[in-house]
Amino acid sequence: MIVCAATNNAGKLKELRRILTRCGHEVRSLRELGVTLDPDETGTTFEENARIKAQAFCAATGLATVADDSGLCVEALHGEPGVYSARYAGCHGDDEANNRKLMDRMADLPEGSRAARFVSAVCLMLPDGRCLTVHGECPGRIALTPAGSNGFGYDPLFIPDRVGLPQGGTRPNTEGRTYAELADAEKDAISHRGRAMERLEAALPDFLQS
Ligand code: IMP
Repeated sequence: MIVCAATNNAGKLKELRRILTRCGHEVRSLRELGVTLDPDETGTTFEENARIKAQAFCAATGLATVADDSGLCVEALHGEPGVYSARYAGCHGDDEANNRKLMDRMADLPEGSRAARFVSAVCLMLPDGRCLTVHGECPGRIALTPAGSNGFGYDPLFIPDRVGLPQGGTRPNTEGRTYAELADAEKDAISHRGRAMERLEAALPDFLQS
């Protein structure tokens, strides 16, 4: 299927592109389609915002469209930054400021009180109005200091409980590596977005026939 990967976030696009391509889809980015839209994310849940984005970009491109809305939820901060992950420090997409704010807010929290999870809602919208929304999560904790240079956003601060294996499957993250220290396939196999996309792929045949 030809799919529009509906995101203005370069890090997210890279991940969506490689996961969708691996599933056999042909991916078009917003830049390739010449679409410069920035819909207001007025929802209060990841699902609502994923749908808002999928709907807006599907209408603009006329293509089957996949949008992800995602974020980091820290237990000790009652779910912050949550749906506000991209603009936690005030300016949309300022990863450095967001990471600094998170580190400051968690400065007094010891190792055992730093539980967090990444959450992703992925919405596939078809031009005929049908839509399918799925959800993925990755449990872990927030590092005491940033580590690693792969990826984007909060990657250097998030230590997932498990990592992917080259031959498939997962294992415990005994070395305590952050998302930013994982190879692409190690992250995709356990990440919130990877899990959501896995569910989307599994549900796709029935959904397309409905
Ligand atoms: P959205 O575009 O509103 O869904 O913003 C999601 C925000 O959550 C991003 O800007 C990042 O700050 C953060 N985020 C989502 N997924 C990831 C990830 O895989 N790694 C690091 N940060 C992420």
